[in-house]
Amino acid sequence: MAKQTIRDFAVENKRVLVRVDFNVPLDKVTGEVADDTRIRATLPTIRYLIDRGAKVILISHLGRPDGKVVESLRLDPVARRLSELLGMPVRKLDDCVGPEVEETVRAMQPGEVVLLENVRFHPEEEANDPAFCRDLATLANVFVNDAFGTAHRAHASTAGVADYLPAVAGFLMEKELKFLGDVLTSPARPFVAVIGGAKVGTKIGVLQSLLTKADRVLIGGGMANTFLLAQGNRIGASLAEPDKTELARHLLDQARAAGVELLLPVDAVIADRIDAAAETRIVDIASGVPDGWSIVDIGPKTIARYREALQGTKTVLWNGPMGIFEIPPFAEGTRAIAAALAELDAITIVGGGESVAAVQQLGYADRITHISTGGGATLEFLEGRELPGVACLHDKMPER
Ligand code: ADP
Ligand code: MG
Repeated sequence: MAKQTIRDFAVENKRVLVRVDFNVPLDKVTGEVADDTRIRATLPTIRYLIDRGAKVILISHLGRPDGKVVESLRLDPVARRLSELLGMPVRKLDDCVGPEVEETVRAMQPGEVVLLENVRFHPEEEANDPAFCRDLATLANVFVNDAFGTAHRAHASTAGVADYLPAVAGFLMEKELKFLGDVLTSPARPFVAVIGGAKVGTKIGVLQSLLTKADRVLIGGGMANTFLLAQGNRIGASLAEPDKTELARHLLDQARAAGVELLLPVDAVIADRIDAAAETRIVDIASGVPDGWSIVDIGPKTIARYREALQGTKTVLWNGPMGIFEIPPFAEGTRAIAAALAELDAITIVGGGESVAAVQQLGYADRITHISTGGGATLEFLEGRELPGVACLHDKMPER
């Protein structure tokens, strides 16, 4: 069911509490924001609210302060960066609840923006403490969740506060729900899922979900190794989960029963150690990986097969790098898949922490239809689970 958004609520002159995901990396030396992607992603919501004369109260976590004040995790650098991006002052408060905060937000003028302090300085945030939720709710007239990346957490500022305020989605949240939701419910077909990354163990739910929805699934990365092992291939010292081979066989059976084409690598780049200076070779999977060598990337024949399997598709969802892309000599498979997606006339969606980093680093991000801002949240959503930070939002009224 679609969720109400800030377009469905009259925000003029209202105090609007917006949960954003400003959990950005900070420069170790200067303490300033090192990558402002997440801040930029919320600008449409913030600008919309400013333009309509709302009083904008932003709330976020940063890092893992574990319920106490950690000086290096204050949000001052984030407020500075946001202020630059908006071209207007953003007042940063030193707490997120309490009489002083209440007084300040009550004195706000329409179009003003304040940023509350790191909400995880309070242990009540992650505990989703009702009294704390009420304290947050007293600050505002409406709650807006734009923090898709934290929506899989049932915390006070991501879900609990919605028990005490009308709750709607921001534009970033809306966009994520639209693209990822369509993949699960009504993908343009043919729909291909490309799944890689380190381990099968962390992606079982996603694989099971996509195996019932995609027309074709391409597997790469470390997780492919467990499937190859399950089929009796010799994989040398490659990363694999021998305790998951039974599961891998079950997934292969499931795909066959569902009539879903599941493709595994037919060749690989192998290395004698996990290092940029390692000796590398290309081997066919059927010939086996020598003892002591590891699969570090998909090989050229696999790249060609996967490129072909992507042709003519209408939706592609990609999660998980094809190899250890952090090491440049092992990044070619991931780069080639990114390039293939960039060339397609299709809805292309990339989700997952390292996958998104790879696509950005390799320079293909601007040619992907949707880059999901959630890591864990994206995966849980794709598993078909209901996210607390989404479930708490009002459903759109059915059209008459
Ligand atoms: P995401 O964050 O996109 O969901 P994962 O966390 O599942 O992806 O996996 C990302 C990691 O998988 C990367 O750090 C990459 O180095 C690793 N990886 C990919 N292929 C291999 C491989 N063949 N052997 C070991 N690690 C791999
Ligand atoms: Mg990851």
